Amino acid sequence: MKIGVDLDEVLVEFINPFLDYLAKDHSIVLKKEQITTYRLWELWNGSKAQGWQLFIDFYKKMGVINLKPVELSENAIDLLQVNHDLMVITSRPRVIKNDTEFWVNKYFNGKFKEIHFADYLIFHGKKKAEICKDLKIDVMIEDSLEYAEECSKSVKKVFLLNQPWNQSDDLPENIERVYSWGEIINKIN
Ligand SMILES: [Mg+2]
Repeated sequence: MKIGVDLDEVLVEFINPFLDYLAKDHSIVLKKEQITTYRLWELWNGSKAQGWQLFIDFYKKMGVINLKPVELSENAIDLLQVNHDLMVITSRPRVIKNDTEFWVNKYFNGKFKEIHFADYLIFHGKKKAEICKDLKIDVMIEDSLEYAEECSKSVKKVFLLNQPWNQSDDLPENIERVYSWGEIINKIN
């Protein structure tokens, strides 16, 4: 199978370091449990443009390369790459493209066939769902509700890693909520 894998909060620990950065540099204090949307700026009445700029500032200041892999993701990718074609599909900004590729090679050297960068507010490109369609992705692994719903129209199955920001009572049939990489491995095998 062809499996698309999102980066932030699927392979990379993102939210906790980002919340540390917000508290230190912007005096915006939030706990992970309070992050009920990926539109984080709505939590402090900011604008979308400001929110997305803060993501870029965070990556630059904290250094993409210092971020850590999500628990069990390295083992899981190791197992999956034996029988499947894996692609990273991320909407990270292009300004950190090189650092992102470096990070993926550091922790997942040779495990992913390709890394694709999707549309990102000020960097126009294809949407994740379009990339999934072009690459004929069978399964997508995501933590964003918005992207999961979008991609569910172009793939057979989406595994949505459970988080406070992706709760919904009404998921499309082919989106399955999961709670760990271990669960994803069991279901795929
Ligand atoms: Mg993500």
